[in-house]
Amino acid sequence: MTAAPRNRLLRTQIPGPNSVLAHRRTAAAVSAGVGIGLPVYVTRAGGGVLVDVDGNQLIDFGSGIAVTTVGNAAPRVVAAVADQAANFTHTCFMVTPYEGYVAVCEQLNTLTPGGHEKRSMLCNSGAEAVENAIKIARYATGRPAVVTFDHAYHGRTNLALALTAKARPYKDGFGPFAGEVYRAPMAYPLRWPGGAQACAEQAFAAFVDLVESQVGASRTAAVMVEPIQGEGGFIVPAVGWLRRVAEWCRKHGILLIADEIQTGFCRTGDWFAAEHEQVVPDLVATAKGIAGGLPLAAVTGRAEVMDAVSPGGLGGTYGGNPIACAAALAAIETMIDEDLCGRARQVERLFRPRLEDLRRRYGVIGEVRGRGAMLAVELVTGADDLTPNPMLTAAVNARCHRAGLVTLTCGTYGNVFRFLPPLDAPDTVLEEGLGIFEAALHGAQAR
Ligand SMILES: *Cc1c(COP(=O)(O)O)cnc(C)c1O
Repeated sequence: MTAAPRNRLLRTQIPGPNSVLAHRRTAAAVSAGVGIGLPVYVTRAGGGVLVDVDGNQLIDFGSGIAVTTVGNAAPRVVAAVADQAANFTHTCFMVTPYEGYVAVCEQLNTLTPGGHEKRSMLCNSGAEAVENAIKIARYATGRPAVVTFDHAYHGRTNLALALTAKARPYKDGFGPFAGEVYRAPMAYPLRWPGGAQACAEQAFAAFVDLVESQVGASRTAAVMVEPIQGEGGFIVPAVGWLRRVAEWCRKHGILLIADEIQTGFCRTGDWFAAEHEQVVPDLVATAKGIAGGLPLAAVTGRAEVMDAVSPGGLGGTYGGNPIACAAALAAIETMIDEDLCGRARQVERLFRPRLEDLRRRYGVIGEVRGRGAMLAVELVTGADDLTPNPMLTAAVNARCHRAGLVTLTCGTYGNVFRFLPPLDAPDTVLEEGLGIFEAALHGAQAR
């Protein structure tokens, strides 16, 4: 086994001829409904570099959507997975349990915000964690309604889609969706009609008004919120808004569910993004960065809430698979030993000044935002015109891809570049990637 190389190298056009051939097989074999951002076919990855079937080495600013925080082949994860696979791959925790599952729950109960007594349950994907958090909240409170926000993304299963905001491509044509889901405005400072200064207060007031006038606080089981929105555009809510929502929920017996699926596990410079505003959610949904690339997800929450559910009410055949649990324990150990929260803050110190500089030099960056190694720029039409600019975003993205930089876009209006580098990437790789992004922005603008 050899580690992936630590530099960019282009041997062919991107995508190269072997990737083009592989992509023909995809078109013939894989549902067209599975969209692909950049069709280069990967053979090896790590240290912020992806190697493809043509021998190209691309820089990775996406981490497979915030998953490979510890790297794509972190040594401890690789060893733990191999060991566990050789011992046993599955028994089903609900049939004959094993200690890896318990150890992951113990870690989650310790690492998530708040010193109260907690319990966890494990499942396979973020959407499943979201669904389970809502099941638990409804069961524990005996209430039906759930409130979510504009620009929210909570996954692609039916209830998760009911919570997700964006129509295309996620919801259009896939309904009808689960009921008793209500949507409040998001405290989105850049686009708040009353201005960024008034955003926290007015968005909080609008939230309270929605719950009181359209839902009923005493019918509301939970509020589901991403402490920093992911897919919706890396929207960092106005400071103070989340705390006020959390306090109001507590007063009314409404459970606050933090969807930390994208923000969790060191990504934002803390273990969880809710910590930044000292918010303690009642339930936390996790996935993505939890297990170094293996499929695992969890719900962690107040013991009395999590234990309210009757035995057999939660579970699933694969939930907390032993290999995924071994990977999670190794990933968490890596995050602690290598201080990856500190590394995420370093990444912000490297990226933010460069992105702010671009904002000053080019009139098309409406805002630089995010936290830690979860950063974004929102592209607009001009310095005095905040109209979203998805065309420019797509053009810059295509240029980055051709130059061997894997970038991801997001946002309700498709005009946000998100930067999610793996935290095992050295500064040299990150700096080269930033240089490519700048050249792409420059080149796409000059046209
Ligand atoms: C990715 C994501 C999900 C869904 O996770 P899957 O594992 O794709 O089901 C839910 N919430 C947030 C915030 C996400 O980023």
